[in-house]
Amino acid sequence: MNDILDMTITKAAESRLTVTDFSQLPFGKVFSDHMFIAEYDNCEWGNLQILPYGPIPMSPAISALHYGQAIFEGMKAYRQESGKISVFRGDKNFERFNKSAARMSMPAITKDIFMQGIAALIEIDERWVPAQEGYSLYIRPVMFATDPYLGVRPSDKYTFALLTTPTGPYYSKALKVKIETEFTRADEGGVGFAKTAGNYARSLYPFAEAQKEGFDQLIWTDAVSHEYIEEAGTANLIFVINGKLVTPSVRSTVLDGVTRDTIIMLARKQGLEVEERRVSVKEILDGIETGNVTDAFAAGTAATVTPIGEIGYQGKIYTLTDPSTRTISSGIAKMLNDIRYGIVPDEFGWNWIV
Ligand SMILES: *Cc1c(COP(=O)(O)O)cnc(C)c1O
Repeated sequence: MNDILDMTITKAAESRLTVTDFSQLPFGKVFSDHMFIAEYDNCEWGNLQILPYGPIPMSPAISALHYGQAIFEGMKAYRQESGKISVFRGDKNFERFNKSAARMSMPAITKDIFMQGIAALIEIDERWVPAQEGYSLYIRPVMFATDPYLGVRPSDKYTFALLTTPTGPYYSKALKVKIETEFTRADEGGVGFAKTAGNYARSLYPFAEAQKEGFDQLIWTDAVSHEYIEEAGTANLIFVINGKLVTPSVRSTVLDGVTRDTIIMLARKQGLEVEERRVSVKEILDGIETGNVTDAFAAGTAATVTPIGEIGYQGKIYTLTDPSTRTISSGIAKMLNDIRYGIVPDEFGWNWIV
């Protein structure tokens, strides 16, 4: 991040801030005034712009729409007690974005464009970063293929965009989740580790079926035997078994979550033992029945730390301990928030003050 980039800035004639109700913020529906765009053509990124958020013209033949060359990221900016704005672990999201890009035969974005784009966008839409407790500005980087060409091959042209959307606290009751053993999210050698569009499209139908049965989320299992727990599809899963933190290891079928990684580091620093390994369905269900599994939660940027209250498996419901009694996950969630909001020192250097 050395070169200061050339970008064209076109300001919105009027801010929508005054007509936005911050007490009513459904996730991902309200966008701030501006967005950032860069275009890839002739093997290089250019045409960097900040412009009013809104539709962009494109051909209905673009290959992103037909063949799914599309990737994204998700991170948050927090208004700290001092008034400063901090983006949490943005470098991890940058690295993961380019891992996703490589797998999908898309060009890497440069660190300058990714980071300076975010900094410039937040500067211009600074007032969109909420100050209330539990609020943040969600940042959505996205890249998609824009060649208007119906042949199946990697596109030559791409658009990179940064969108931001203010989000409120994710008050949620404990989740009722279903262990999915019919449909799959990812397989070895596939694209499960990438934040790429198709992974989410394929999960919508099984998710809708589970919702009809009264579940809030799915727990995906491995595509081969359905005996091992992988992740939740937009969040990773962490369990407490006999006082140890246990989480399915990251592999080609599991997304390497920043929240998961952060929680592992915080737990180890606190002296908790952490195991990253294969976790079988049987181990968890038996552990709930014997009382060895004392906590289970989903960990992700959007949801932060969300307790799991009930797990459904082949028609039977397994009920976990009352979430209000779970000191390990609530302690970690608090520590994580205190770092993000600058309430306690940031020993790991996770906050990037923009
Ligand atoms: C984004 C995502 C997560 C959570 O990752 P974070 O970096 O913690 O936000 C987990 N699983 C999948 C499939 C995801 O897309």
